[in-house]
Amino acid sequence: MRSKSEAAFESAKAVMPGGVNSPVRAYRAVGGTPFFADKGEGPYLWDIDGNRYVDYLLSWGPLIWGHAHPEIVKAVTEAAVKGTSFGVPTELETRMARLVVDIVPSVDVVRMVNSGTEATMSALRLARAFTKRPCIVKFEGCYHGHADSLLVKAGSGVATFGLPDSPGVTPQTAEGTLTVPYNDIPAIEALFEQRGEQIAAVIVEPVAGNMGCIRPKDGFLQKLRALTQEYGALLIFDEVMTGFRVALGGAQARFGIQPDLTTMGKVIGAGLPVGAYGGRRDIMAMVAPEGPVYQAGTLSGNPLAMAAGVVALEMLKNAAAGGLYDRMQDYGQKLVETFVAEGKRRGIPVSGHAIGGMFGLFFRDASPENYEQASQCDKERYAQFFHAMLNNGVSFAPSQLESGFLSAVHGETELNLTQEAMVSAFRQVG
Ligand SMILES: *Cc1c(COP(=O)(O)O)cnc(C)c1O
Repeated sequence: MRSKSEAAFESAKAVMPGGVNSPVRAYRAVGGTPFFADKGEGPYLWDIDGNRYVDYLLSWGPLIWGHAHPEIVKAVTEAAVKGTSFGVPTELETRMARLVVDIVPSVDVVRMVNSGTEATMSALRLARAFTKRPCIVKFEGCYHGHADSLLVKAGSGVATFGLPDSPGVTPQTAEGTLTVPYNDIPAIEALFEQRGEQIAAVIVEPVAGNMGCIRPKDGFLQKLRALTQEYGALLIFDEVMTGFRVALGGAQARFGIQPDLTTMGKVIGAGLPVGAYGGRRDIMAMVAPEGPVYQAGTLSGNPLAMAAGVVALEMLKNAAAGGLYDRMQDYGQKLVETFVAEGKRRGIPVSGHAIGGMFGLFFRDASPENYEQASQCDKERYAQFFHAMLNNGVSFAPSQLESGFLSAVHGETELNLTQEAMVSAFRQVG
């Protein structure tokens, strides 16, 4: 029963484009009506009709401490009482920056912003300024927020001049964005051979999470590091999703690679609007007011967001020492095993994998390695599975081409609930 949500969606559509403030929330990929959230607690989310869900969307990644964690709520509440924004520096900002610098291996200096989009947009501007070069390289199917130069998809071939992915992005803007398939080492080598002197930076999701959850092949990230170094380009790890999630220090800690710049978001704000970019001191020294590259924000370093982030990161530091990231991966692995076993039993092609606090479930015989393979996944079956799971009280992302997320507060009870729901859901997958 979701009649209240259905009515709420109708009201919303009258006053917001598609009824939502971010397109994926409208369920276009799976059909049906999104449920409207009433409240969350730990691993659970309740809709306005009173249905409860075990939540694996987790606000699209930020909620590694689950919903309404008491320590985070307390920190935000205490901060709010003292004032919600000042426009002058606070010590909280320095505490936050210190934590990020200590935790993320390649970050010497960091600037806080308000979203992942702002972080990547700013990092690219900085990379162009630092290298005095015009072009950036991104990978097909990687999402880096909605800045104009990043809304570009690839054509076919080894590398193409970018074509805008959205009306309103000018061809001139898109032209500076070169794209190659994810995990394709020969393609990136060929691109550098052709255009290496023009490339300011390669930006990559070190574990891709926006075309399903896709792991980097062995040697792929190492190759990006070597090529960028050879040609004098910068390597930007977009860790907006993977940061503090696939390992405490992000993918760069997990794979032992030092990018020049790192973008962060999601987990770093524990559910409040935060992003950040940081990296090598000599590069970050170009950011205003220390250097000439302009970038600013009225609400950047907001005290509520910093209070939440500081507590979340401090708790993660402790939990990581106690094995949190292995525990999340074990949990994800068990979900994947049940998913794959149930699919196979019914002769349905399925695959999946888990990495730290992320996982991917695919209706395809093998986990995809790039966007082309990801787009071959069976969308119909995912839609059936998704709605059956929802009806069984489990909320996954409303598209297979998104990652699943785990939290520190998902435990045995939720795992069992989810596995049982899966067994039953597969009866409705044709
Ligand atoms: C979510 C995401 C972004 C965009 O972050 P917003 O806060 O939504 O602007 C950028 N890069 C990656 C890898 C993301 O997952």
